[in-house]
Amino acid sequence: MSASTKRSIGTLSDTDKPVCNICGGKVFELGPNNRKSATGKLPRCTACQSLERHRQLRQVYAQFPPSYLAGLEVLQLSPDIGVDPQWFKSYEVSTFGGENSLNLEAIDRADVSYDLVICNHVLEHVANDRQGLRELLRITRPDGFVQITVPTPYTRTVTVDWGYPKPESHGHYRGYGRDFLHLFRAVHPQAIALQVETIDVVTAAGGYVYLWTRDPRLAERMTTWISNPIEAAR
Ligand SMILES: [Zn+2]
Repeated sequence: MSASTKRSIGTLSDTDKPVCNICGGKVFELGPNNRKSATGKLPRCTACQSLERHRQLRQVYAQFPPSYLAGLEVLQLSPDIGVDPQWFKSYEVSTFGGENSLNLEAIDRADVSYDLVICNHVLEHVANDRQGLRELLRITRPDGFVQITVPTPYTRTVTVDWGYPKPESHGHYRGYGRDFLHLFRAVHPQAIALQVETIDVVTAAGGYVYLWTRDPRLAERMTTWISNPIEAAR
Protein backbone atom coordinates (compact mmCIF):
# COMPACT_ATOMS: atom_id res chain seq x y z
CA MET A 1 0.00 0.00 0.00
CA SER A 2 1.19 3.49 -0.79
CA ALA A 3 2.84 5.57 1.90
CA SER A 4 2.24 8.74 -0.11
CA THR A 5 -1.40 8.89 0.95
CA LYS A 6 -0.58 9.45 4.62
CA ARG A 7 -1.83 12.68 6.15
CA SER A 8 -0.90 14.24 9.44
CA ILE A 9 -3.12 13.32 12.39
CA GLY A 10 -4.36 15.63 15.11
CA THR A 11 -1.79 17.20 17.37
CA LEU A 12 -2.13 19.11 20.60
CA SER A 13 -0.18 22.20 21.51
CA ASP A 14 0.19 23.31 25.12
CA THR A 15 -1.77 26.49 24.49
CA ASP A 16 -4.79 24.69 23.01
CA LYS A 17 -7.71 24.03 25.31
CA PRO A 18 -8.78 20.46 24.58
CA VAL A 19 -12.22 19.97 23.03
CA CYS A 20 -14.07 16.66 22.96
CA ASN A 21 -14.45 15.58 19.33
CA ILE A 22 -17.65 13.70 20.19
CA CYS A 23 -19.73 16.37 21.97
CA GLY A 24 -17.66 19.57 21.95
CA GLY A 25 -17.22 19.43 25.74
CA LYS A 26 -14.29 21.32 27.26
CA VAL A 27 -14.29 20.02 30.85
CA PHE A 28 -12.51 16.78 31.73
CA GLU A 29 -12.13 14.70 34.88
CA LEU A 30 -10.38 11.59 36.20
CA GLY A 31 -11.30 8.30 34.50
CA PRO A 32 -12.44 4.96 35.98
CA ASN A 33 -10.68 4.14 39.29
CA ASN A 34 -9.53 7.77 39.44
CA ARG A 35 -6.94 7.23 36.75
CA LYS A 36 -5.26 9.79 34.51
CA SER A 37 -4.38 9.14 30.87
CA ALA A 38 -1.02 7.57 29.95
CA THR A 39 0.03 11.14 29.17
CA GLY A 40 -0.93 12.39 32.66
CA LYS A 41 -4.10 14.25 31.57
CA LEU A 42 -7.72 14.09 32.71
CA PRO A 43 -9.36 11.59 30.35
CA ARG A 44 -13.15 11.64 30.88
CA CYS A 45 -15.38 14.25 29.22
CA THR A 46 -17.81 15.46 31.89
CA ALA A 47 -20.48 16.14 29.24
CA CYS A 48 -20.59 12.87 27.24
CA GLN A 49 -18.46 10.60 29.51
CA SER A 50 -16.16 9.68 26.61
CA LEU A 51 -12.67 8.33 27.32
CA GLU A 52 -9.51 8.28 25.16
CA ARG A 53 -10.55 5.16 23.24
CA HIS A 54 -13.95 6.56 22.29
CA ARG A 55 -12.45 9.78 20.91
CA GLN A 56 -9.67 7.87 19.12
CA LEU A 57 -12.32 5.72 17.44
CA ARG A 58 -14.36 8.79 16.51
CA GLN A 59 -11.28 10.26 14.80
CA VAL A 60 -10.94 7.20 12.60
CA TYR A 61 -14.63 7.12 11.61
CA ALA A 62 -14.48 10.85 10.87
CA GLN A 63 -12.04 10.06 8.05
CA PHE A 64 -14.45 7.77 6.17
CA PRO A 65 -16.58 9.56 3.54
CA PRO A 66 -20.03 10.06 5.14
CA SER A 67 -21.62 8.86 1.88
CA TYR A 68 -19.81 5.52 2.24
CA LEU A 69 -20.90 5.05 5.87
CA ALA A 70 -24.47 6.00 4.92
CA GLY A 71 -24.74 2.89 2.73
CA LEU A 72 -23.73 0.38 5.41
CA GLU A 73 -25.85 -2.14 7.31
CA VAL A 74 -24.14 -2.41 10.69
CA LEU A 75 -23.98 -4.70 13.72
CA GLN A 76 -22.19 -3.44 16.81
CA LEU A 77 -21.24 -5.90 19.54
CA SER A 78 -21.34 -3.83 22.73
CA PRO A 79 -22.46 -0.19 22.54
CA ASP A 80 -19.75 2.44 22.19
CA ILE A 81 -20.10 6.23 22.32
CA GLY A 82 -17.32 6.55 19.72
CA VAL A 83 -19.78 5.38 17.06
CA ASP A 84 -22.94 7.28 16.07
CA PRO A 85 -25.72 4.95 14.80
CA GLN A 86 -27.12 7.76 12.67
CA TRP A 87 -24.15 7.55 10.30
CA PHE A 88 -25.39 4.26 8.87
CA LYS A 89 -28.15 2.88 6.64
CA SER A 90 -29.16 0.44 9.38
CA TYR A 91 -27.81 -0.25 12.85
CA GLU A 92 -28.24 -3.13 15.28
CA VAL A 93 -26.54 -3.29 18.68
CA SER A 94 -25.89 -6.28 20.93
CA THR A 95 -25.18 -5.87 24.64
CA PHE A 96 -23.57 -9.03 26.02
CA GLY A 97 -25.67 -10.40 28.86
CA GLY A 98 -28.22 -7.64 28.19
CA GLU A 99 -30.35 -6.50 25.30
CA ASN A 100 -30.07 -8.55 22.07
CA SER A 101 -27.17 -10.52 23.62
CA LEU A 102 -25.03 -12.42 21.09
CA ASN A 103 -22.28 -14.95 21.82
CA LEU A 104 -19.17 -13.89 19.91
CA GLU A 105 -17.95 -17.49 19.62
CA ALA A 106 -21.23 -18.58 17.96
CA ILE A 107 -23.00 -15.47 16.63
CA ASP A 108 -26.67 -16.25 16.05
CA ARG A 109 -26.79 -14.53 12.66
CA ALA A 110 -26.63 -15.82 9.06
CA ASP A 111 -23.46 -15.66 6.94
CA VAL A 112 -22.74 -12.35 5.17
CA SER A 113 -25.51 -10.42 6.94
CA TYR A 114 -23.78 -7.05 7.46
CA ASP A 115 -21.54 -4.56 5.65
CA LEU A 116 -19.79 -3.56 8.87
CA VAL A 117 -19.41 -5.42 12.16
CA ILE A 118 -18.02 -3.35 15.06
CA CYS A 119 -16.40 -5.07 18.03
CA ASN A 120 -14.68 -2.78 20.56
CA HIS A 121 -13.17 -4.10 23.80
CA VAL A 122 -14.96 -7.46 23.61
CA LEU A 123 -12.39 -10.01 22.34
CA GLU A 124 -10.41 -9.89 25.59
CA HIS A 125 -13.52 -11.26 27.36
CA VAL A 126 -13.80 -14.27 25.01
CA ALA A 127 -12.13 -17.64 25.77
CA ASN A 128 -11.44 -18.47 22.11
CA ASP A 129 -10.61 -15.21 20.39
CA ARG A 130 -9.70 -16.90 17.07
CA GLN A 131 -13.15 -18.41 16.92
CA GLY A 132 -14.59 -14.97 17.73
CA LEU A 133 -12.66 -13.43 14.83
CA ARG A 134 -13.81 -16.19 12.45
CA GLU A 135 -17.40 -15.48 13.46
CA LEU A 136 -17.03 -11.73 12.93
CA LEU A 137 -15.76 -12.29 9.39
CA ARG A 138 -18.41 -14.95 8.66
CA ILE A 139 -21.32 -12.59 9.23
CA THR A 140 -19.63 -9.75 7.27
CA ARG A 141 -20.25 -9.39 3.51
CA PRO A 142 -17.23 -10.00 1.25
CA ASP A 143 -17.08 -6.32 0.26
CA GLY A 144 -17.60 -5.11 3.84
CA PHE A 145 -15.31 -4.91 6.86
CA VAL A 146 -14.89 -5.64 10.54
CA GLN A 147 -13.69 -2.89 12.92
CA ILE A 148 -12.04 -3.97 16.16
CA THR A 149 -10.27 -2.48 19.15
CA VAL A 150 -8.74 -4.24 22.17
CA PRO A 151 -7.22 -2.70 25.33
CA THR A 152 -3.71 -1.21 25.06
CA PRO A 153 -2.07 -3.54 22.48
CA TYR A 154 0.84 -1.07 22.18
CA THR A 155 1.98 -1.75 25.76
CA ARG A 156 3.34 -5.26 25.00
CA THR A 157 5.27 -6.75 22.10
CA VAL A 158 3.67 -10.19 22.51
CA THR A 159 0.15 -11.14 23.65
CA VAL A 160 -0.05 -12.85 27.04
CA ASP A 161 -2.89 -15.39 27.30
CA TRP A 162 -3.81 -16.47 30.81
CA GLY A 163 -6.34 -19.06 29.63
CA TYR A 164 -8.92 -17.83 32.14
CA PRO A 165 -10.59 -14.52 33.00
CA LYS A 166 -7.98 -13.09 35.34
CA PRO A 167 -9.74 -11.12 38.10
CA GLU A 168 -6.86 -8.69 38.73
CA SER A 169 -6.77 -7.87 35.00
CA HIS A 170 -10.39 -6.72 34.69
CA GLY A 171 -11.54 -10.33 34.10
CA HIS A 172 -9.77 -10.46 30.72
CA TYR A 173 -8.56 -13.77 29.26
CA ARG A 174 -5.43 -12.14 27.87
CA GLY A 175 -3.46 -8.95 27.49
CA TYR A 176 -2.97 -8.18 23.81
CA GLY A 177 0.35 -7.04 22.38
CA ARG A 178 1.58 -5.51 19.13
CA ASP A 179 1.38 -8.99 17.59
CA PHE A 180 -2.43 -8.70 17.64
CA LEU A 181 -2.30 -7.43 14.05
CA HIS A 182 -0.89 -10.79 12.92
CA LEU A 183 -3.69 -12.77 14.55
CA PHE A 184 -6.00 -11.64 11.72
CA ARG A 185 -3.70 -13.20 9.14
CA ALA A 186 -3.58 -16.44 11.13
CA VAL A 187 -7.40 -16.61 11.19
CA HIS A 188 -7.93 -15.74 7.49
CA PRO A 189 -4.76 -15.60 5.33
CA GLN A 190 -6.44 -13.79 2.41
CA ALA A 191 -8.20 -11.06 4.36
CA ILE A 192 -6.38 -7.76 4.84
CA ALA A 193 -5.93 -6.28 8.31
CA LEU A 194 -5.03 -2.63 8.77
CA GLN A 195 -3.78 -1.19 12.04
CA VAL A 196 -4.58 2.52 12.29
CA GLU A 197 -2.64 4.57 14.83
CA THR A 198 -4.73 7.36 16.29
CA ILE A 199 -4.10 10.05 18.90
CA ASP A 200 -6.78 11.30 21.29
CA VAL A 201 -7.37 15.03 20.70
CA VAL A 202 -7.94 15.64 24.42
CA THR A 203 -5.08 13.77 26.14
CA ALA A 204 -2.70 13.09 23.21
CA ALA A 205 -2.74 9.41 24.25
CA GLY A 206 -2.13 7.01 21.37
CA GLY A 207 -4.15 3.96 20.41
CA TYR A 208 -4.80 1.48 17.61
CA VAL A 209 -7.95 0.77 15.64
CA TYR A 210 -8.07 -2.38 13.44
CA LEU A 211 -9.92 -2.62 10.11
CA TRP A 212 -10.27 -6.08 8.51
CA THR A 213 -11.67 -6.91 5.08
CA ARG A 214 -11.68 -9.62 2.43
CA ASP A 215 -11.98 -6.97 -0.29
CA PRO A 216 -8.57 -5.73 -1.53
CA ARG A 217 -10.24 -2.77 -3.29
CA LEU A 218 -11.88 -1.64 -0.06
CA ALA A 219 -8.55 -2.02 1.79
CA GLU A 220 -6.91 0.18 -0.85
CA ARG A 221 -9.67 2.80 -0.56
CA MET A 222 -9.34 2.79 3.23
CA THR A 223 -5.63 3.58 2.97
CA THR A 224 -6.49 6.68 0.93
CA TRP A 225 -9.24 7.79 3.34
CA ILE A 226 -7.48 7.16 6.63
CA SER A 227 -4.11 8.38 7.91
CA ASN A 228 -1.37 6.09 9.22
CA PRO A 229 -2.59 2.58 8.39
CA ILE A 230 -0.13 -0.31 8.71
CA GLU A 231 -0.93 -3.59 6.98
CA ALA A 232 -0.08 -6.95 8.55
CA ALA A 233 2.93 -8.49 6.79
CA ARG A 234 2.05 -11.26 4.36
ZN1 LIG B 1 -17.69 14.75 25.17
